[in-house]
Amino acid sequence: MPGTETKARPAAAKAEHFDVLVAGAGISGIGAAYHMKDQCPDKSFVVLEKLESFGGTWLWHKYPGIRSDSDLYTFGYRFKPWTGVPIATAQEILDYMDEVIEENELGQYIRYGHKILSADWSSDDSLWTITARKLDTGEEVYFTCNFLWMCQGYYNYERPYTPDWPDMDKFKGQIVHPQLWPDDIDLKGKKVICIGSGATTATVVPAIAGEVDHITVLQRSPTYFIPGRNENEMVTELEQHWHRLGYDPPDRAPESPVRPA
Ligand SMILES: Cc1cc2nc3c(=O)[nH]c(=O)nc-3n(C[C@H](O)[C@H](O)[C@H](O)COP(=O)(O)OP(=O)(O)OC[C@H]3O[C@@H](n4cnc5c(N)ncnc54)[C@H](O)[C@@H]3O)c2cc1C
Repeated sequence: MPGTETKARPAAAKAEHFDVLVAGAGISGIGAAYHMKDQCPDKSFVVLEKLESFGGTWLWHKYPGIRSDSDLYTFGYRFKPWTGVPIATAQEILDYMDEVIEENELGQYIRYGHKILSADWSSDDSLWTITARKLDTGEEVYFTCNFLWMCQGYYNYERPYTPDWPDMDKFKGQIVHPQLWPDDIDLKGKKVICIGSGATTATVVPAIAGEVDHITVLQRSPTYFIPGRNENEMVTELEQHWHRLGYDPPDRAPESPVRPA
């Protein structure tokens, strides 16, 4: 969405103005909204999100076992320390974000179902003009802002990268991309090949291995996995230390069903 040096469009005349416009309500956009409210209470801002809810990555991905790869102590927000087990399911991350929005009354700033189509910069007016489409009505709406905060993520949601291999169209089975996991897929009795050996494979293969007839991971270069516990030694150590000092450790979320990373 490159900004171009054009004059503000005529549409800007009927545009809503905000000091700051945040693109996207994923973990970055919700963090941006929190900091705007907390640190810039005199500035107006809005968050535009094309989906019907917040969460971005964690809302969109539906494949079996979907969970974080890194620990939530570092992935979570500084202003709301994570108190659960380190590796969290997508639903746990969504619940955490929901709490952030509720506790800080951020919902009033977010407009869902608004897909940003373009962002045009005017040097004459020192202003961005944003064109967005309301996905429920198809109507185009316009915004101006002084600062455009890009929290739209880094990948194409609707069109994930899929290699173009010869004769793919002749394959008689089903080809599934984890980013577009079908709701109605039935894996029972299937012979599956999982291509690649990164974080997604490490998540999805253990999650479906018990359901399919057979599964093979096809990898270009060797990767090694070792099972580990969903626990952080330092956190456990500190909790025990707190206990010894007579303090109660923070409430722990119930043991997560996620498999060890
Ligand atoms: C399965 C998976 C697991 C991951 N695990 C980890 C992890 O453990 N640790 C880690 O650090 N990272 C992880 N990542 C990377 C992860 O995506 C980021 O860390 C983080 O969630 C990205 O948040 P974000 O808010 O920047 O972007 P996103 O989550 O992509 O959110 C962007 C939002 O912007 C919206 N948007 C995009 N374009 C428009 C538009 N034109 N108009 C309006 N709205 C728009 C999207 O709908 C979305 O809601 C993982 C990624 C995946 C896919």
